[in-house]
Amino acid sequence: MTEQAIPGALVEALVKADAVVVLTGAGMSAESGVPTFRGNEGLWQGHRPEELATPLAFRKDPEKVWEFYDWRRTFLAACEPNAGHRALVRLEEIADEFTLITQNVDGLHGTAGSRNVLEVHGNIWRVRCTGGCRGEHEDRRAPLPRPLPPRCTCKSLLRPGVVWFGESLPAEVFEQASRASEQADVFLVVGTSGAVEPAASLARVARAAGAVVAEINPEGSLLSAVSRFILREGAATALPRLVAAVEAARG
Ligand code: NAD
Repeated sequence: MTEQAIPGALVEALVKADAVVVLTGAGMSAESGVPTFRGNEGLWQGHRPEELATPLAFRKDPEKVWEFYDWRRTFLAACEPNAGHRALVRLEEIADEFTLITQNVDGLHGTAGSRNVLEVHGNIWRVRCTGGCRGEHEDRRAPLPRPLPPRCTCKSLLRPGVVWFGESLPAEVFEQASRASEQADVFLVVGTSGAVEPAASLARVARAAGAVVAEINPEGSLLSAVSRFILREGAATALPRLVAAVEAARG
């Protein structure tokens, strides 16, 4: 397959931008070997993630929900950032202002070295107390020691530090993401189907506020219509090419 040319006007917009914002979704990590939710590889023991990643599922059977998360954590522990994650680290270094909004819970942007990351759906490596103390901390053990579910020092159940289907996003983090989107000169949408709200709406917010929106996704998405530029390629190929073009144009 011949490579699509990187649009010069997009490179120019990135070089001139005061504020660059990137929104990433599951496709960002696909080339790190992390399954997206839409493909069949996202299934666990025949369950769709939408059946297990809910407050109701946790109330009904916390052990089963934790088995699912323990499986995901153990899988993710072996995954590494890809060339796309690394290109975004470089873009942050050369941009004046840079905000990375991610829907991913895998923590790979942080592992790669990105600094200003807003994890609007939380982080799978964090655990939070469901009892009175509400404590939250990082726990990188994978697999977790048995028995599941894990418990807090206050004896209450711990839950994964992620946002489940039907839950609101962390207000302060989403507020920061909204503000950054409104102020973006360039807004890159990488590897998201645009099906999960309200994160997807951030691209529309940016577009309405005048940002140049560009999509990187091998397939069409619900956000293609708001994108002025579209790179129909995987993130691990397109992002390094795009960032190299920006670096070359800066001289
Ligand atoms: P999604 O599963 O709905 O869509 C994934 C998108 O990525 C699709 O549009 C697909 O065409 C695209 N894609 C596939 N391979 C790609 C590649 N190599 N490069 C670029 N794009 C590629 O994902 P979503 O929109 O992020 O929404 C699902 C929700 O589930 C989100 O909250 C998401 O973050 C979460 N989730 C997270 C992870 C993770 O943390 N890695 C994995 C699965 C799902």
